[in-house]
Amino acid sequence: STNTAVPGLESTFADALADLTVAWQGAEVPEPRLLVLNAPLAAELGLDAETLRTEDGIAVLAGAQIPAGARPVAMAYAGHQFGGYAPLLGDGRALLLGELVTGDGRRVDLHLKGSGPTPFSRGGDGFAVVGPMLREYLVSEAMYALGIPTTRSLSVVATGRAVRRNGLEPGAVLARVASSHLRVGTFELAARYNGLLQPLADHAIARHYPHLADLPETGEGNRYRAFFEAVVEAQASLVARWMLVGFVHGVMNTDNTTISGETIDYGPCAFLDAFDPAAVFSSIDNSGRYAYGNQPGVLQWNLARFAETLLPLVDPTPDDAIAAVTEILHSFDARYERHYVAGMAAKLGFTHGAIDRTLIDELLTLLAEHRADWTGTFRALADDLRGDTTALDALVPRAALAPWLERWRNTLAAQGRSAADAADAMDRANPLYIPRNHRVEEALTAAHAGDLGPFEALLDAVTHPFERRTDRAPYAEPAPREFAETFRTF
Ligand code: AMP
Ligand code: MG
Ligand code: MG
Repeated sequence: STNTAVPGLESTFADALADLTVAWQGAEVPEPRLLVLNAPLAAELGLDAETLRTEDGIAVLAGAQIPAGARPVAMAYAGHQFGGYAPLLGDGRALLLGELVTGDGRRVDLHLKGSGPTPFSRGGDGFAVVGPMLREYLVSEAMYALGIPTTRSLSVVATGRAVRRNGLEPGAVLARVASSHLRVGTFELAARYNGLLQPLADHAIARHYPHLADLPETGEGNRYRAFFEAVVEAQASLVARWMLVGFVHGVMNTDNTTISGETIDYGPCAFLDAFDPAAVFSSIDNSGRYAYGNQPGVLQWNLARFAETLLPLVDPTPDDAIAAVTEILHSFDARYERHYVAGMAAKLGFTHGAIDRTLIDELLTLLAEHRADWTGTFRALADDLRGDTTALDALVPRAALAPWLERWRNTLAAQGRSAADAADAMDRANPLYIPRNHRVEEALTAAHAGDLGPFEALLDAVTHPFERRTDRAPYAEPAPREFAETFRTF
């Protein structure tokens, strides 16, 4: 190939772990059309946005051409899906184009989703469609703007291919950027083959936790224990961030749990409207396994599956290996709690995180009882501190909330926090604009009909989540209750 639109792609994963990859390429693309390009992200990656908009650039982003020097692969992995083990999943509709090193020295994967069938496609067609790819673009960029570790989205290209879903839908390819695509499921696969586990672990350590690379290979202080602990910490922090912002991932299978601690795979995900620990938005999650309130517990379960893969590296004596990982696994609760309470303290305007957990729990009970809008509540609480009571009164009856409000204000005062300072700090911690489900649906419906205007306006709002602007006001409003109560992502 002589396509030079994306120069400099490297393949350290495919080189080090060839047995976990299959050299592959994308399907032909009948009529590529660029729908959205993330120019700031392109710049961060050292790519030229104008070049990406050319025919050659779009051909690469669509998976139709391989950039000169690149060696794309489909990655193999296993995973527990809804609790059941699938021994071989892999990229059934995706390709790892290669790795880029950013200006500030970070190595990231450039990955295509929806690029056609691979040896891992099983029953699937290997393709993706415009609506869900625009959805991933929007929600992942919103998460990034909220400061939450996540894969990012570089582009969505419509392919001109008709793909069978609910009838025929327009095909699309998402270009995704991640600090890697190593998952718990990658380890679940590697652990079942001779000689793959240790090279994979060492590769993951070098890539994501390089400060651990010089630790010894064996003994109590070995690098694999420290690696497991680092992933537990990264994921405990991540799931706390999801809970704080009201994000429901929707399909927390072990193949969707990263080693880097980034959010990955925006499928049936959604943000809470009304606060409800049992909230489920995915129509395939019948049992509510991945409900909002279950996410920390499910994450710990996924980390237990990860721990099982690492046992032979952690200690040659099985009982000692189990004891070591169990102790680390049990630290998940305290780690999660620390991140969550610190985050809630910030959302409530406190200067330091050591607040009484019952203050949080009582608020959560009230919000659940009154089905109060999660995102709106924290802005309304700040307004209430400033003496503007209207927003809060519309969410929870004052009589029900009054005793809690008094305790909260007293605790702020005890921390030496003025109401005005607390309110301002809250506005910096609590987003105004999140990808509200009804707005996302509206934007995707318009995009499907050929109008990207609503998508672009919503994208602009959710990628500036804290900046109040009058023309963005509709994006802060909760969904009509009727919509909220019946909405399903798919
Ligand atoms: P996900 O639920 O998106 O994490 O996907 C689980 C597995 O199904 C992964 O191995 C995907 O590559 C595969 N998959 C999802 N959709 C398709 C499709 N349309 N064609 C082939 N494989 C798919
Ligand atoms: Mg996945
Ligand atoms: Mg998916």
